[in-house]
Amino acid sequence: AKNAGRNRYAYFTPALQVAALNRMRLTNDLRGALKGDQLALYFQPIVHLATGRIHKAEALVRWQHPQRGMVSPCEFIPLAESSGLILEIGQWVFHEAADWAQRWRAEVDPAFQISINQSPLEFQHDGGDGVGYEDWLRHLRELGLPGQALVVEITEGLLLDATATVSDKLLQLRDAGIQVALDDFGTGYSSLSYLKKFDIDYLKIDRSFTRNLAPESSDMALSEAIIVMAHKLGLKVIAEGVETPEQRDLLARAGCDYGQGYLFARPIPAAEFDALLRHP
Ligand code: C2E
Ligand code: CA
Ligand code: CA
Ligand code: CA
Repeated sequence: AKNAGRNRYAYFTPALQVAALNRMRLTNDLRGALKGDQLALYFQPIVHLATGRIHKAEALVRWQHPQRGMVSPCEFIPLAESSGLILEIGQWVFHEAADWAQRWRAEVDPAFQISINQSPLEFQHDGGDGVGYEDWLRHLRELGLPGQALVVEITEGLLLDATATVSDKLLQLRDAGIQVALDDFGTGYSSLSYLKKFDIDYLKIDRSFTRNLAPESSDMALSEAIIVMAHKLGLKVIAEGVETPEQRDLLARAGCDYGQGYLFARPIPAAEFDALLRHP
């Protein structure tokens, strides 16, 4: 056993070191990315299923690395979280999203909304250092933009271990008129009690449900139940990961309010989204 242990040690250490070194380099590069204009905000339409119109968009951050090319947020968001850089990235995302929301509300649709993602670390950050809630309010004031232009997407886990900070933050957002969406619904310990306890505006059905939608399937039954329940609690429902016309039709028939997914469009750069919005 001792021998096997030693072998394992000898075999895995270099690989682990390479991975750790890689993470360190990438984190370092991320610091530069913020200053060097390498981040971009992409937008994916959220479509009103009954009319097919684009009512909203989700803002998704992209990193164009000078050597590695496009790095996925699934790779760099965790690094941003462990290094604390997520707060600066989140601030940049907020400003960028608010600026576009202002423009699209003024020029295309006065009710247009943009949703932004917040990881638990950002959401629980108590501000007071120039990034976060006070800065958001200042920026909204400067733009003359109502909070209703923006939706913050959070995940279920946050509400499960709901601390005072979390409920305070939810109340602050509500005060500013900013709406809240529960992201990836159905992937965690979906407890429905907190939907009543907290003031949530949108529920986003995770794409793992959408993927397996078929008439009479159990995921269909679950989705229908979620939609009925959400509506009873006064929430609107957005289905994620809509890739086929069949999925869209099943969701629309089940009363789902909005759909988002490759069927309508992939996340695209702001200029492309701008054109799509003006000439659908
Ligand atoms: P998410 O919030 O669940 O975002 C939805 C993800 O699903 C996006 O991946 C989107 O490109 C992808 N998607 C959309 N439609 C479809 C579809 O029809 N089929 C499939 N297979 N996928 C679809 P993306 O852009 O790679 O983002 C991954 C995750 O990174 C996001 O998951 C979110 O948790 C995080 N993220 C992205 N931008 C930000 C940000 O600005 N701040 C924070 N904190 N997290 C972000
Ligand atoms: Ca999201
Ligand atoms: Ca998410
Ligand atoms: Ca999601």
